[in-house]
Amino acid sequence: MRNQLKHYINGEWVESTGTDTEEVINPATEEVMGKISLGTKEDLDKAVEAARVALPSFSQTTKEERIKMLEKITAEYEKRKEDLIETMTDELGAPLNISEKVHYQMGYAHFSQAAKSLKEFSFTEDRGDHTIVKDTVGVSGLITPWNFPTNQTSTKIASAFAAGSPVVLKPSELTPFAAIILAEIFDAAGVPKGVFNLVNGSGSVIGDGISSHPDIDFVSFTGSVGTGQKIMENAAKTIKNFALELGGKSPLVVLEDADIEQAAKAAVNHIAMNTGQVCSAATRIIVPASIKEEFEEAVKNVLPKFPVGDPREKSFIGPLVAKKQWDTVQSYIEKGISEGATLIAGGTGKPEGIEKGYYARPTIFTDVINNMVIAQEEIFGPVMSIITYETVDEAIEIANDTVYGLAGYVIGNDNETLRKVATSIKAGRVTVNNAGADFSAPFGGYKQSGIGREWGDFGIEEYLETKAILGLSS
Ligand code: NAD
Repeated sequence: MRNQLKHYINGEWVESTGTDTEEVINPATEEVMGKISLGTKEDLDKAVEAARVALPSFSQTTKEERIKMLEKITAEYEKRKEDLIETMTDELGAPLNISEKVHYQMGYAHFSQAAKSLKEFSFTEDRGDHTIVKDTVGVSGLITPWNFPTNQTSTKIASAFAAGSPVVLKPSELTPFAAIILAEIFDAAGVPKGVFNLVNGSGSVIGDGISSHPDIDFVSFTGSVGTGQKIMENAAKTIKNFALELGGKSPLVVLEDADIEQAAKAAVNHIAMNTGQVCSAATRIIVPASIKEEFEEAVKNVLPKFPVGDPREKSFIGPLVAKKQWDTVQSYIEKGISEGATLIAGGTGKPEGIEKGYYARPTIFTDVINNMVIAQEEIFGPVMSIITYETVDEAIEIANDTVYGLAGYVIGNDNETLRKVATSIKAGRVTVNNAGADFSAPFGGYKQSGIGREWGDFGIEEYLETKAILGLSS
């Protein structure tokens, strides 16, 4: 059992002022794996006060001091590798291999990238007779979801630290333990008192408290569109600066000259990775009508290469994070069937032979029309929709026919067509032919997928204000 009934405030673990607790469930076993305290507004006030006290000195540290701090954090992070991997497997249900190669690795990449980006970052720029200065935004409040417990926390924290901004973090109550380990890592790395504060709790108390707190200057939120709207409303009351990383319903456009096996593998990987609980996953696979049957066959053939099962065994697809998420995914599969899409793999219920755990069947729909609910709403589970097109222009139109714009993907061989599709998709990140992740490239959304950009120097910018000083050049 991993119990942590304290919050990390001003450099120490302190008792919660409230008595409410919440059990954290391992989604693979449905058993309780630990317990956390649900913080109160009083706990949050203490954390914000600690961050405010830390602000003047932390914001005045030199870039070199902050680079050193980030490098120390990266070294301490590495020391906790095994614990982080196991923890994310238990709280999220991520297979051990995914916990290591994706979750652990992304957290590591953000801290090391922030140190690298900071080396190149310029906080002042002379422009003739005036100077542009990048100033710390102030105290930042960070609210994160459950689907990437070290990625979202680490990118926000690393960028804030790089910019000299003390933070108060509220991680998801479904997956709080990776963030608790991060607090221990910062403690071991000697992060100054008050620069990092962790208050566990519910969205309605601590999340709402962060977005409406008069002493928090900037809120960085990752989560659903609905919660993002509430954060905007709260932030409006104090004209608080905010960044939102929200949902997605991303397209993968397969071009006529694509290698079908490769495209099918990429498509299945999107719904299999993290059990489809990925904001930037391609869930609408837009395929030329001329190769539809061949593509469907290829997808069905590749699916068994992504086995579902116990995340502590050799599986690729673990359970969904919680019963509620399992129910949501089931209702979308039912909806797809009732809307008239053709089911070619999976369906409702649990995979054969599995009784315990929130496992869903990897599901593939074809004959999907882009205005169906399953093609428009974010399902956040292993469900693929295959949609056909006749011309590349039509493929682009379908790709953009969504309220979201987080990511887009295109696979093919003709450079000119690849370029046309990549530049036409209205999304913050478009990947051509499965190019690998680059942590210095910005991440964020167009349209209802969000406001702002994280990662690398774009992430650091979010935690800065821009000031013009006139009549005084350096
Ligand atoms: P969620 O919005 O339910 O919760 C996210 C966080 O907000 C949690 O910590 C939660 O406790 C908190 N919260 C809940 N109500 C709140 C309120 N009223 N005020 C302030 N905070 C509140 O989202 P989730 O279910 O945890 O995560 C899934 C969603 O996150 C999906 O929509 C997914 O697409 C999105 N997501 C986006 C990105 C991205 O980078 N764009 C990355 C990962 C996940």
